[in-house]
Amino acid sequence: MSEVILKVNNMCKYFESKGVTIRAVNDISFEIEKGETVGIVGESGCGKTTLGRTIVGAYVPSSGSAEYTAADGEVYDLSSIDKKKMKELRKEIQMIFQDPYSSLDPRMTVFDIISEPLRANFKLKKEEIEEKVKFIAEKVGLKTEFLKRYPHAFSGGQRQRIGIARALVMYPRLIICDEAVSALDVSVQAQVVNLLKDLQKDMDLTYIFISHDLSVVEHISDRVGVMYLGRMVEYADTASIFEKPMHPYTEALLSAVPIPDPDMNNERIPLAGEIPNPANPPKGCPFHTRCRYCTEKCKTEVPEFKEREKGHFVACHLTDTSMIKGIIKQQEGM
Ligand code: SF4
Repeated sequence: MSEVILKVNNMCKYFESKGVTIRAVNDISFEIEKGETVGIVGESGCGKTTLGRTIVGAYVPSSGSAEYTAADGEVYDLSSIDKKKMKELRKEIQMIFQDPYSSLDPRMTVFDIISEPLRANFKLKKEEIEEKVKFIAEKVGLKTEFLKRYPHAFSGGQRQRIGIARALVMYPRLIICDEAVSALDVSVQAQVVNLLKDLQKDMDLTYIFISHDLSVVEHISDRVGVMYLGRMVEYADTASIFEKPMHPYTEALLSAVPIPDPDMNNERIPLAGEIPNPANPPKGCPFHTRCRYCTEKCKTEVPEFKEREKGHFVACHLTDTSMIKGIIKQQEGM
């Protein structure tokens, strides 16, 4: 039976700057089942990183909650628990960041980097720490002799493996991967994504995978949430998002993904203009300034985020979404 590990309810995170309110995360709700991967996609500045950080308590939400079902079976609202409990839950909830180099202290050896969370959270003997670090290093494909070296001696992919090992050494249950492979070459990206998938099976992990790269998200996710200007505009299982998107923004994002097969026809749907200033978002539907289906209603009324088909949520006034194509995968001439 599926078990919900995280339920995000009407999460908002606003920042005040020079008298202006920036709605970085605006009324977002979704849930994640244990063992699955939820991908969060959108252009840079859409609020996906702020969403991840607000969920793990790095930012205090302006309103809303993130109900986490812990290993002890209790449900905790991560947005309102005290610091002591949050420190305990940090063992279960970890983050992996985009830039492994800047998140690894260059003066520490790989062993010290991976063992740091163990030393900070448990009273373990030296041999126990060594055993755990070696075990996790092996799991992520780092040789034991690498443990004595410093981060600068490694390639980007190896440094990301060090970052993953540091997150895993605590045996977490939920990991937020924030653009975790974006800084890597495409071939290395595939290796790290496959490693994350293997580790997920092996260690019963749940991921929130934040990325601007739809191809990577398609490869790793069970469900996908599409964000635009701080709002979730579409949320469904991966196949529905990629084969039958219902939101014009998802359609435009998908049409921009190159298809490597020359026999496939990919009609490009131009995404007009820049993403609007989040400090001064458009009235009505936040996407209306760039949407090719925009009507007068779209300019004044914010569309509700509603379930259109089972498990498929969309925020759009369009009632007939049959013209929304996504990636057009049929062969030319057919
Ligand atoms: Fe486009 Fe209107 Fe739908 Fe917004 S509500 S995405 S403007 S059709």
